[in-house]
Amino acid sequence: MTYQELIASILSLQEEGIELFNAGKSVLGKNILATHLGDYSGTQILIQAGIHAREWITTLLLVEMVRNLYNNDLVKDGGIYFVFLTNPDGAQIELDGVDSLNCDITREYLTLANGGSTDFSQFKANVNLVDLNTNFDANWGGGSQNVFCPATEDFVGFYPESEREVQSLINFTLQTRPLLTISYHSKGNVIYYGFENESEKNIERDRNIGEALSATTNYPLIFTENSTGGYKDWCIDELKIPAYTIEVGADSIPHPVGVEYLPEIYNRNKDVPLVALQKANEFASSIDFMGRIVQNSSNGKVKVKSNGSGYLARLQSLYERRSANWSRNRKK
Ligand SMILES: [Zn+2]
Repeated sequence: MTYQELIASILSLQEEGIELFNAGKSVLGKNILATHLGDYSGTQILIQAGIHAREWITTLLLVEMVRNLYNNDLVKDGGIYFVFLTNPDGAQIELDGVDSLNCDITREYLTLANGGSTDFSQFKANVNLVDLNTNFDANWGGGSQNVFCPATEDFVGFYPESEREVQSLINFTLQTRPLLTISYHSKGNVIYYGFENESEKNIERDRNIGEALSATTNYPLIFTENSTGGYKDWCIDELKIPAYTIEVGADSIPHPVGVEYLPEIYNRNKDVPLVALQKANEFASSIDFMGRIVQNSSNGKVKVKSNGSGYLARLQSLYERRSANWSRNRKK
């Protein structure tokens, strides 16, 4: 597998009439490719993959999912966003090595961080040597495996949301407002749910939905311990929506999980998008995406208030807090 082949597999969807667009940009200016299936009205969910460089098998999994769902017209009652490869720069480094980069200094610092080796097959980070799935602002830097110096994995960044890929995924999520997100990683054949400090009520809701994902994949569902700064963690902590990490491929397979494992992984996961959308629809009245206020009215019926002013006010405050964070950290 080369980086070119990986991107070509995503682009091949266009030949079947599937429209691709950009969810954002990477540090090196690459497009973060995405698509949408189903209706733009109604419940939306978001599935992203490839945030860790060596886990590009998850990108190929999403390509197969989209191909099947589109050709069989399977997405009903809402819509699904797919973000194929959140970390394209990292995937290029992992697949093609640093010789594929056109900057001497970049090649040198990546090689230095890689212990002098030209073998980048175990690389997880982005081109800035930040582990993107530790860079989100959800108990940032509080994880047991976090490191605070640039590295091929586990470096949380110099400040939360410092990386363009992370900012892109956050902005895309705020724009598309999914009621549920799934992050695909490899490996371990397991589904993680929940986050520290999440309310009991939401944990129960997330477990209920997670059990359906567990049933369709036959992966065990496990409550997250000691995970911080991940996209799933941020979705739960900031947006209050159910979010899951699905780790595909048996632990016994070495990184990177090869294409020969794709058929088995696809078979176990092919129904995940539809089950997740169905469950998001079922639980929509108890999912609070920021300003979406659910309350019991006097007649006992659940009433969903409009997303209007409450949502916008909270979005505004989130953006203000974020830009204050960024400018404060840049001045340091
Ligand atoms: Zn991962």
